Amino acid sequence: MRESTVQVKGLVAGTVPFSAVDGTGSRYVIFLQGCGFDCLTCHNPGTIPSQPRGMRQVSVGSVLDRVIESAPFLTGVTITGGEPTMQPEFLEALLVALAEHPATAHLTRLLDSNGDAPAELWDQLIPLIDGVMLDVKVLDPERHFVLTGRGNRRVLASASRLAAKGVLHEVRLMLVPGINDADGELTRTAHWLLSLDPQVRVRVNAYRRHGTRACARHLLEVTDADRVRYREVLTAAGLRNLTIG
Ligand code: SF4
Repeated sequence: MRESTVQVKGLVAGTVPFSAVDGTGSRYVIFLQGCGFDCLTCHNPGTIPSQPRGMRQVSVGSVLDRVIESAPFLTGVTITGGEPTMQPEFLEALLVALAEHPATAHLTRLLDSNGDAPAELWDQLIPLIDGVMLDVKVLDPERHFVLTGRGNRRVLASASRLAAKGVLHEVRLMLVPGINDADGELTRTAHWLLSLDPQVRVRVNAYRRHGTRACARHLLEVTDADRVRYREVLTAAGLRNLTIG
């Protein structure tokens, strides 16, 4: 590994040495700071600012050292955020370091992304990763803007690209009652996802207020009855690889 790779610096909001909910198996989770979206439903809003006051940059080498300590007990590493692709140079250097170091090379590398990244960046990242867990908030661009403050053109293009390259590990649907959970919307989303990958793995994340900002408190929480309906509608649309959270 080149010395310059481990010297690249970035902003890391936090790390979790063992997680069973951020991809397959036991995973080291790295939260990169900064996100281009401003989701009403964000449960980690502290990671949104790209230059938070007082946060110091850390080197790829220092993060790698922490992963190495846990590596014998891990299945893989998940890099999330914020939005990991917001720090492309740091992200790429970190993935290269994890892939090349003998103590971490056996670990799978997953990204947890909102998908708002250009095709050229995915083309650089795809050879370095095992998969992407991709958030798809809603297909309709106007409602996507209401939910995130941004359009979804690049998100949908990213989903297509990742599926075509065989690295769409999972799609996550954050459903909010009355906003993006109508039967027709769910069916349309399921059909679109199946057109990308007939075996697509989908996880529904049901909206909960806990941990969100005051601006989201007016949103309704998902009920058990909603969960039953989500399963019925998405299964009827053809999704087989489905988890309702
Ligand atoms: S994409 Fe994720 S991290 Fe970014 S604002 Fe939305 S929920 Fe928060």
